[in-house]
Amino acid sequence: MIQLSDKIQKLETSATLAMAAKARELKAEGKDIIGLSLGEPDFNTPDFIKESAITAINDNYNSYTPVDGYEDLKKAIQGKFKRDNNLDYGLNQIVVSTGAKQSLYNVASVLLNPGDEVILPCPYWVSYSDIVKLNGGIPVEVQTDIDQDFKMTPDQLKSAITSKTKMIWYSSPCNPSGSVYSKDELKALAEVLKDYPDVIIVSDEIYEHINFGSERFSMAEIPEMYDRTVTVNGVSKAFAMTGWRIGYIGAPEKIANACKKLQGQVTSGANCIAQRAVITALEAPLDKIQFMIDKFKSRRKLILDLIETIPGFECNEPKGAFYVFPNVSSFFGKTYNGKLIENATDFSMFLLEVANVATVTGEAFGNPDCIRISYAASESDIEEAMERIKKSIS
Ligand code: PLP
Repeated sequence: MIQLSDKIQKLETSATLAMAAKARELKAEGKDIIGLSLGEPDFNTPDFIKESAITAINDNYNSYTPVDGYEDLKKAIQGKFKRDNNLDYGLNQIVVSTGAKQSLYNVASVLLNPGDEVILPCPYWVSYSDIVKLNGGIPVEVQTDIDQDFKMTPDQLKSAITSKTKMIWYSSPCNPSGSVYSKDELKALAEVLKDYPDVIIVSDEIYEHINFGSERFSMAEIPEMYDRTVTVNGVSKAFAMTGWRIGYIGAPEKIANACKKLQGQVTSGANCIAQRAVITALEAPLDKIQFMIDKFKSRRKLILDLIETIPGFECNEPKGAFYVFPNVSSFFGKTYNGKLIENATDFSMFLLEVANVATVTGEAFGNPDCIRISYAASESDIEEAMERIKKSIS
């Protein structure tokens, strides 16, 4: 009999991917499903990026790549950190990986020992908790709610820190709440962290460009935090390059070297063609991708206006990313269409089966009162989906 490891048996299937699979199943049965569950821009990769990949193929980029990325890509990343984040990273502090997901996995793997705690302000991106657990760590969830715009306060951080705290992980703009930590808010968190010099900060900034006007600031810009912050980023979201699988970190050299060592034994360097294309993406002026951000902004307005007309949905105004994260707890304990809704997972499943709209339960993000709805979809799909949701609960 095949006996899988304890580790893999305890691992949760990614809730977003599971929902997408269920939606596909219903689609195959002929149901007209509107998919608002995936964290993926609905744009194609811009042509100027695609063209550089085609050139790279013709130029015979086909060999193994350096484990931590091509040097000219690392230089482009260095330039990007300087241009967008006011951060100076040496080339030996940058590691390119197969998606930001691998970057995060690397960081967990090189820093965590069994029993180490990682503070995760809720809601957090689905994979954080499982990446931490896979590496022997213990996720410590810090609950936040709409009234605090889903952002952890310094007092909450302080109460969550113990002698076992190894790291704190957050994304800003946040997937799923869209919240963005301001410079003052990050400085206030840093004030707390100054008393705990061994705690490492992982700042996931993969949505940084999908920001609708909030102040942009990185934890590593605070001089006292620079030496213990890992800045994670990638091209999946802002450049519509999810399938190209390139992410990267800027980190203290010791952490970067360890990630490189790990990657050298696990995947080797990231894909050669994708890396060449990412050089073009990162060196291009940001106005080349502004059209996508403008679209997300107008869709955010559309979906917020429509959600306001649905009784029982309570929503914050997301400042970035492309999700809304409404609290739907007013539906719990009620029966619709013969189905009792006990929690966010039931509600999300109800929306899929009855309204034929795919969303994701907030439970996957550490918040059991909310659901995540992606608005990386056409205006007509957003309008139709909100209409169906409204009808299903009326
Ligand atoms: N971090 C956050 C907050 C995300 O939402 C995602 C993807 O959904 C990732 C990291 C992973 O990105 P990548 O596609 O680069 O692996």
